[in-house]
Amino acid sequence: MRFASPRIETLPPSILRSGWLMPPTLASLSLPGLTLAVFAFFAGLTLASAAVGFALERALPKRRVFDLPLFPGQLRSELLGNAVFLAVATVTVTLALRFGVVPFGARGALAGALTFGVMVPGFQVFYWLLHRAMHHRALVRIHRWHHRSQVTTPLTGQSMSAFEALGWMLGYVGLPCLLSQVAPLSFAGWAGYLAFNVFGNIVGHANVEPTARHAATRGATCSPTPSCSTPCTTPAGRATTGSRAP
Ligand SMILES: [Zn+2]
Repeated sequence: MRFASPRIETLPPSILRSGWLMPPTLASLSLPGLTLAVFAFFAGLTLASAAVGFALERALPKRRVFDLPLFPGQLRSELLGNAVFLAVATVTVTLALRFGVVPFGARGALAGALTFGVMVPGFQVFYWLLHRAMHHRALVRIHRWHHRSQVTTPLTGQSMSAFEALGWMLGYVGLPCLLSQVAPLSFAGWAGYLAFNVFGNIVGHANVEPTARHAATRGATCSPTPSCSTPCTTPAGRATTGSRAP
């Protein structure tokens, strides 16, 4: 991604003071234009990643994790969940960029690599905590939509309630905002982190183990019913133990 001096005359003084740097093409967009750009980023990544995930499932039928049917209407439910996630992500990230919530104060390849290298493991720690919290009795209702999919598909990754999606936004925007208080972050590194996260989450939920030498489990050790709890070895159950993307 090419960086040049932003058109600073278009930026509010509070943002200028924070050392906010992002590509001038984005900085100069109107609010509707920026919204469209952010939506295109997330929707494009979602479509491309889902295409890879479904292609892997199709290409490697003998490496399916579970040879069980989806629940009736699962793909429709997951599509709706993805629409919810995309709406929340688009609004949150657009507003964060517009108001300079994350002061991007560094640029260049090294800053990009360092930002990416810190954000990716940082999110893993954050999400582990968020996921454990969402399995607490008080919060599990916001997480139920995601776990309706006992047999996962690439669309399962972003299939969730608006409240859970807001929790993810703490990782997408809140975490970099926090880290920017300690060290200047790179916009390109942050964008790369988001792209990596979306791709890994979606492809990681495909019902296939491409790297396994032998076909993965062909059935479940307990039936995939709503009563199936965390230790269950369905894909959704394994997700709660951190063995695949959440
Ligand atoms: Zn869970």
